[in-house]
Amino acid sequence: MTFTYSTEDFTTSLPTEEYIRRFCNSECFIKYCKECRNYGKVWVCPPFTHDTMAELRQYSRLLLVATKIIPYGKEIPFSEVNRFIRPERLRIEKKLRDMEKQYGGRAFAYAGSCLYCPEGTCSRLDNQPCRHPDLVRSSLESYGFDLGKTASELFGFPLLWSNDGYIPEYLTLICGLFHNTEIIHYK
Ligand code: SF4
Repeated sequence: MTFTYSTEDFTTSLPTEEYIRRFCNSECFIKYCKECRNYGKVWVCPPFTHDTMAELRQYSRLLLVATKIIPYGKEIPFSEVNRFIRPERLRIEKKLRDMEKQYGGRAFAYAGSCLYCPEGTCSRLDNQPCRHPDLVRSSLESYGFDLGKTASELFGFPLLWSNDGYIPEYLTLICGLFHNTEIIHYK
């Protein structure tokens, strides 16, 4: 089976305060996080020891990036989903870290297992600092943002889920960069 696909990045921008007011629902999403095996076991996941909203409010604006991944072919088992997501996560996370360096701010990555240490070996388990703070960024979900609502209201298309064991028509990764720059060029 081949795992080829096309991608398209969509961007939008809005004030940080507006994004927090309209899309943050920490009380709801923390319940889902608590059900995840990574809760409290990986540094990029909750619970966080700092005031996350105070961190975000250091920045006036948010650039959001939605990457639509369209697999070629039909009836691709959902168990293969990381063949599509992983290379795109690596691409976008690097791009956003480069933008952090260029513009300042703080990048947010796609949710899911951390890409930078083998599964189940996070240094948080030993109460030691993250081994790769230069690479790792938390997800918007982990800060309590509703990405289903973000996709449909800000990008105009819904997130699709698999309900038949196959990868849906497209996958969507939503990442972002909180910043204090007037104009950002996303290329
Ligand atoms: S890079 Fe390693 S130590 Fe840091 S959060 Fe990821 S798994 Fe944990």
